[in-house]
Amino acid sequence: MDREELTTRFPLVRRIAAAEEVVWINPSLRGGAERELELTAADVRDASERLARFAPLLVRLFPETADRGGVIESELTEIPAMRARLAERWDAALPGRLLLKRDSDLAVAGSVKARGGIYEVLKHSETLALENGLLTGTDDDYAKLASAEAREFFSRYKMQVGSTGNLGVSIGMMSAALGYRAIVHMSADAKQWKKDYLRAHGVTVVEYAGDYGKAVAQGRAESDADPMSYFVDDENSRDLFLGYAVAAERLDRQLSGAGVTVDAEHPLFVYIPCGVGGAPGGVAFGLKLLYGENVHVFFVEPTQACCMLLGLVTGLNSGVCVQDVGLTGLTHADGLAVGRPSGFVGGVMRELLSGEITLSDARLYDYLRDLWESERLFAEPSACAAFHGAAAAACAPELRDYIGAHGLTERMERAAHIAWATGGRLVPEEQRRVFLETRL
Ligand SMILES: *Cc1c(COP(=O)(O)O)cnc(C)c1O
Repeated sequence: MDREELTTRFPLVRRIAAAEEVVWINPSLRGGAERELELTAADVRDASERLARFAPLLVRLFPETADRGGVIESELTEIPAMRARLAERWDAALPGRLLLKRDSDLAVAGSVKARGGIYEVLKHSETLALENGLLTGTDDDYAKLASAEAREFFSRYKMQVGSTGNLGVSIGMMSAALGYRAIVHMSADAKQWKKDYLRAHGVTVVEYAGDYGKAVAQGRAESDADPMSYFVDDENSRDLFLGYAVAAERLDRQLSGAGVTVDAEHPLFVYIPCGVGGAPGGVAFGLKLLYGENVHVFFVEPTQACCMLLGLVTGLNSGVCVQDVGLTGLTHADGLAVGRPSGFVGGVMRELLSGEITLSDARLYDYLRDLWESERLFAEPSACAAFHGAAAAACAPELRDYIGAHGLTERMERAAHIAWATGGRLVPEEQRRVFLETRL
């Protein structure tokens, strides 16, 4: 379908194509996660158990994870001052509590990619180690894989990925730590400091003039031609997805600790920035498995790179890209600069996602400053997209209708809202100052 046909058939696409900020409520939303999906709660449990087996190894390879026993997890922090700021500056008075899930501070990779990316490298390494006798079984001591012998073994293999930045950091750091030859194929818009950071840690960075799609295609072709190479496929990987999904059971414990109940009387609203879809999709899937219709998950995307929204609205899924409707795919939110959504994730989210909210790049920096000034917390521009979800929940008419249609109007004072801060820790001080002063 060309632009003309898309905008005629789907009125919202006309506004999307004009780069307007929109709020979309998913008409296909169904109750829980109980419908037939290719992945199940057992798959998420399997991923969780695998991460537990690897915890002793992570303590050895990344001593910064020792305080959590080798579990890479982030804090959940209530941010009342940010909540007040949204009300004061943006007329977005949110009923209920506002919390920040601080994946922006995750160990090793400093972004949500530490969940999926590291999990996939570990899963592949477990397979190799079991097949080649480095591990005798899944009850063996995985800390062995930090030995010189294991490093020598892994150094015969390559680990490759195409990335706009953060996935490359996650895959690159974990792979290099195990001894792999790590190669990250990066798009031109990836930040220079991320490339420098990877190179400083022994990762090979290959740069492409074109966009993310090109970096992925070339990386994949190169890897497929080499039997000793493994390619992490951001668009289709079930392993990445499951690594992200493990976040839910951990969040559940943190919510209990914070005195937040999630049930029919106490709805949970979650706002997650979306690029290709894997990270927000995995987290959302895990949350739907746990909380069913009591959790309401919204993705947030930049107006110029709202690929998941376009795929869902048109039903074309990965058969459409933002360039098809005349958008650029370019955004200051480098973690979200993706033109075509994951078809796999689009399929899973079709009946699970409550809706989508898009925002202009200028707002990313407004929210970044708001968070810093009100809470003294830092998150990168991509991550700050999450706040636009919270703001929409407070004041967008579409969200008000959604809340009414779900019988939640009276319950919103008891609601909890989570803005999922997806990255930030590794942003250098110098760059942080630039972000804090950027006004578009
Ligand atoms: C990758 C990324 C996302 C989105 O994840 P996808 O899997 O691409 O949808 C969001 N925020 C940041 C900071 C990221 O790096």
